[in-house]
Amino acid sequence: MSSTKYDVIVVGTGPGGYVAAIRAAQLGLKTAVVEAAELGGICLNWGCIPTKALIKSAQVFEYINHSEDYGIKVKGAEMDFNAMIKRSRDVAGGMSKGIQFLLKKNKIDQLLGWGKVQPGKKVEVEDKDGKKTVYAGDHIIIATGGRARELPALKIDNEKIVGYRKAMTLDKKPSKMVVVGSGAIGVEFAYVYKSIGVEVTIVEFLDRIVPNEDEEVSKALEKIYKKAGVKIMTSTEVTAVDTKGKGCKVTVKDKKGTESTIECDIVLSAVGVVSNIENIGLEDVGILVEKGKIKTDEFYKTNMPGYYAIGDVVAGPALAHVASAEGIICVEKIAGHHPEALDYNNIPGCTYCIPEISSVGYTEAQAKEAGYELKVGKFPFSASGKASAAGAKDGFVKLIFDAKYGELLGAHMIGANVTEMIAEIVAVRKLETTGMDLIKTVHPHPTMSEAVMEAAAAAYGEVIHL
Ligand SMILES: Cc1cc2nc3c(=O)[nH]c(=O)nc-3n(C[C@H](O)[C@H](O)[C@H](O)COP(=O)(O)OP(=O)(O)OC[C@H]3O[C@@H](n4cnc5c(N)ncnc54)[C@H](O)[C@@H]3O)c2cc1C
Repeated sequence: MSSTKYDVIVVGTGPGGYVAAIRAAQLGLKTAVVEAAELGGICLNWGCIPTKALIKSAQVFEYINHSEDYGIKVKGAEMDFNAMIKRSRDVAGGMSKGIQFLLKKNKIDQLLGWGKVQPGKKVEVEDKDGKKTVYAGDHIIIATGGRARELPALKIDNEKIVGYRKAMTLDKKPSKMVVVGSGAIGVEFAYVYKSIGVEVTIVEFLDRIVPNEDEEVSKALEKIYKKAGVKIMTSTEVTAVDTKGKGCKVTVKDKKGTESTIECDIVLSAVGVVSNIENIGLEDVGILVEKGKIKTDEFYKTNMPGYYAIGDVVAGPALAHVASAEGIICVEKIAGHHPEALDYNNIPGCTYCIPEISSVGYTEAQAKEAGYELKVGKFPFSASGKASAAGAKDGFVKLIFDAKYGELLGAHMIGANVTEMIAEIVAVRKLETTGMDLIKTVHPHPTMSEAVMEAAAAAYGEVIHL
């Protein structure tokens, strides 16, 4: 048992864990983090950041291939697949080093190894040589994150059937890929691989791609992807994959029960994530789990006093910014502050395929179902000067207002840079601004963000540029 006693020990250093630890240190709490793999968690090493690096490489290649659209002739551009992968790994490695710097700067101890919570507010850490040390803390925060979900018919073998980790570290460029699942991870990888010349088929069990988005967004993305040559099979499930022989034979079944086979070199399983709740001592302490997630109250306390959980191990959207926000609230509460509970209705969701997608709040269908009378405004980027100049006319901004009080119930965007534009909407909703205020908020010209003001104006019959 270590003689050092901590105020806070955080198990896991993803965007939930490391942010919680830094906030705890800022608040004067003696803090340690436990990490079994890379500092920064999935987000920095295997999620948000390396995927965006790959997307940027793919987009640069697309720009070069379409450079004549911008009046530039480029001859002989070649994709160097291994260099693209290396760049993505270097970006991730740099970010992870940055976390190490931040932890040191905030005088947070790094306990490297596998952490297991124990009764009596303790954490056992087993290092890579098998040596176990027990640490005591007044508050233990579990932030062990998640991993790829596996379907019974689609067991990841890391050779021909891969998850997101292998998909971002392949040794060579495949020629045909089947992407199973069309949530954010699926459509982002589909963009990367189709842009560098891979024949991509998306198989989605539900009746539309990006099924959590507003229906109009799903339709728009499907049209753009199909035009770019991506094959899309919705209302279709994978029933078997035959990996014997040279490539893979993927058997799929549509909703009428008709089976067909797709041949490819590699299958990417992108069917969601599950929480890392196994072998971390939950049962020893008596911490309750519900539907595969650690059960907490609104300030992330588990049923056992002194133990907390945040990020992908608790219910709520599995997103980095959610994990970080939960970590900050959890620690501020521990420190005796009075933080506001997180408003899960005002969490932006972003997908970084090209064109990008962002959204917050109700979809149109959800708002109708909730019984609101609606005013809906839509502004297409084809009518935006900035979008025309940039050669990015695909997509739109759609805003959904409550007709009675003007409350902005939801926003749905697809187009260039919309993942940057959604923050305005989140602020507007946080400040409970009405549609009229948004129309009267002067937006700079020419910008893509003018489409937000114009979409609000469209909802109230005041749109100028349509
Ligand atoms: C391909 C991909 C792309 C994504 N893109 C985005 C995006 O663009 N935007 C976004 O918001 N979200 C994105 N996500 C989701 C995001 O990565 C997660 O929501 C986020 O990382 C969750 O943070 P976390 O702190 O809960 O856990 P994680 O980031 O999963 O970190 C958990 C950490 O705990 C460590 N750990 C686990 N068990 C133990 C143990 N017993 N002892 C010690 N350490 C342990 C792990 O090694 C890991 O470092 C993406 C995810 C994937 C897979």
